[in-house]
Amino acid sequence: LQVFSDDPGEDASRGALAADPPLVPDEAFLTSLAKESESLEKATPQEILRWAVDRYAPKFTMATAFGPEGMTIIHMLSEIAPETPIFNLDTGYQFAETLALRERVKERYGIEVEFKLPETTVEEYEKQHGGPLYKTDPNRCCFDRKIRVLHKAARGWHAWASAIRRDQSPDRARAPIVGWDRKFQLVKISPLANWTKKDVWSLISKESIPYNELHDKGFPSVGCEPCTRVVQIGEDERAGRWSGFQKTECGLHTS
Ligand code: SF4
Repeated sequence: LQVFSDDPGEDASRGALAADPPLVPDEAFLTSLAKESESLEKATPQEILRWAVDRYAPKFTMATAFGPEGMTIIHMLSEIAPETPIFNLDTGYQFAETLALRERVKERYGIEVEFKLPETTVEEYEKQHGGPLYKTDPNRCCFDRKIRVLHKAARGWHAWASAIRRDQSPDRARAPIVGWDRKFQLVKISPLANWTKKDVWSLISKESIPYNELHDKGFPSVGCEPCTRVVQIGEDERAGRWSGFQKTECGLHTS
């Protein structure tokens, strides 16, 4: 298999790992991922994470926005492989309550979530664009402050954990447990694909997993502060994201 060649963290002495993904996935590779995914359909999230760690560590990572699903996976990883590197895209527009979760994760699990920052500060960015771009062009703002940063952060890794659930939205309904992330060129593993919101909150409650205080204040889904509002009873759980724009995803999980 052809392997990543621009990996700054590659340990040459270790050589190519058996699970190195190809630079351009061929049909055989995609078929093998689909088979792995199928075989994990009945596995628990913990079993899926164990499989991912066995298969891909030390080239396995996780990006989190500190949502309830992400916190659930962090909790599981703290028991399975606490050394797994985890990072957060700090756009500069996150809620204080979200940023505080990084400290709470550190206190509870001893895990330091790394902040990945855009090249410009919020002040510089808004100056460049004559004001906050999230008001006029949130797609561009998300691209610059999330997707671009994530592309850079994804380099060198072979697989990452995603916190998506299939029942979150029609876009996510067919997400595989193991699949090829075309956008970021690595294997994407979704251990909670088959879990429901109730499953997630049951575990949070049972294990006293830290979670964003904003969930108790009417925000079922929390993104950047300017682009997140309280959701009313009966609304979709992501209705409070980019309200007023034809936008429900930042682009991380869309192809
Ligand atoms: Fe910008 Fe809003 Fe996207 Fe955050 S969620 S990056 S503030 S458009």
